[in-house]
Amino acid sequence: MNYRSTRGSDKRITAAEAIIWGLADDGGLYVPELFPLLTEEKIAELAGKSYQERAAYIMNLFLDGFDSEELTQFSNLAYSEPGYDHPAIAPLYKLDNNTRFLELWHGPTCAFKDMALQMLPRLLTSSLRKTGESREVCILVATSGDTGKAALEGFADVPGIKIMVFYPRDGVSDIQKLQMSTQIGNNVNVVAVEGNFDDAQTGVKSIFSDAKLRDELDRSGYFLSSANSINWGRLVPQIAYYVSAYCDLLAEEEIIPGNMINFCVPTGNFGNILAAWYAKKIGLPINKLICASNRNDVLTQFISTGTYDRNRTFFTTSSPSMDILVSSNLERLLFELSGKDGEATREYMSALSRLGRYEIPPATKDEINSVFAGGWCCEDDTMTTIADVFYKNGYLIDTHTAVAYKVRSDYMSETGDETLTVVVSTASPFKFCDSVLKALGRQVIGTGVDLLDELADISGCDIPASLSSLRKKQPRFTGSVAKDGMKSAVKGFLGVR
Ligand SMILES: *Cc1c(COP(=O)(O)O)cnc(C)c1O
Repeated sequence: MNYRSTRGSDKRITAAEAIIWGLADDGGLYVPELFPLLTEEKIAELAGKSYQERAAYIMNLFLDGFDSEELTQFSNLAYSEPGYDHPAIAPLYKLDNNTRFLELWHGPTCAFKDMALQMLPRLLTSSLRKTGESREVCILVATSGDTGKAALEGFADVPGIKIMVFYPRDGVSDIQKLQMSTQIGNNVNVVAVEGNFDDAQTGVKSIFSDAKLRDELDRSGYFLSSANSINWGRLVPQIAYYVSAYCDLLAEEEIIPGNMINFCVPTGNFGNILAAWYAKKIGLPINKLICASNRNDVLTQFISTGTYDRNRTFFTTSSPSMDILVSSNLERLLFELSGKDGEATREYMSALSRLGRYEIPPATKDEINSVFAGGWCCEDDTMTTIADVFYKNGYLIDTHTAVAYKVRSDYMSETGDETLTVVVSTASPFKFCDSVLKALGRQVIGTGVDLLDELADISGCDIPASLSSLRKKQPRFTGSVAKDGMKSAVKGFLGVR
């Protein structure tokens, strides 16, 4: 199976090339030309397997040119203790008869991005070998928090790869800052940018599009690549946990083969929920995908009106990983639902960059509505939901997961759809201690790691080891640069003059 761009170019490339390049030459995203099929029998068979075996199987369906032994080995290494603190890797928690939480935060950085970023470096290294690339790759990341640390953990000390992370100096939480600045590894660098997330991201984008710099790096034996969520190598490992959740329900005899379930996903860049859509596309029995947003409800509006409009106020919320106005991965869905029309997709994206908005035709909107429901949750309801779930059920959730749970409850009362729903839980509550403590009615005194114990005391939950160990660690990276100093920081790190 080959890959093609969403923007219509005729070029076909291999899975390894799609993983190395990330973005197509015409600005589009890579999508598989054909979709594999996951049969009911196969799903039943996978129900008897481990998470690692399920993940290797699903990746093998999509990644031609990779063999199953290699993928099994990667899966065993990526999803294992002690990096993961739960033997099931992505366990389901039963809240009530028709509600489960899929806990995707048992990895080394306590957020769901580990599910992809523990795998991507292995896929990338192997892809470089397959294509005969001799240069060394430097991964550049601009992060608003979760991605940076997950990428650092994934790429630390991977041979042939260097990684440099830029984060906004005043735009990440204390814990996130500490997680990144204490990162170990001989190939990593972390720099604070004097500005906000947009400044960091704009800086990284301009480094990528700097042809002169590209030549200089090339002469020194380097090229740049990105680990952001549009990379196909991040999406494929995410398809696996949707299949795995279904398999767990089968194995526990909560459903029988063929039963439909819903997933509700707290959404930002549309990567996680798109992976669920791919799972449905290849045959996983999914009824509805519920797309949950916080106050930045651009996707809710899009699903209900068919118009995507980013010309609106940007809000900073307690679920920062969903504070996004342009959900890049939506482009892949538009491409598929417009009948693989690259021309149409290119026009939507061009309108988005020129006018900040685009409108899809009624037929495409109907397609979307047949699978997706959308909803959003305000800040007050996020807080109330955390408290409700904790005091009624004794289960502690983070802010992102609370948004999803509330949106799912609203969906259920509006539609009467009582299909068993898996709410995707994307971060450990300990990663967002101050919001969670506030939600539980505590006055928050102190910051960062000081709050871990308090949350543990109130909730009776264990602090994830990777967070409690932060208290003993010394920051290694304390430097910051001005916005226009990012390029020289990259050259300095790579020793290029
Ligand atoms: C990144 C992130 C999200 C959003 O996921 P997308 O794939 O960008 O839609 C939700 N919750 C948490 C905790 C995240 O880190």
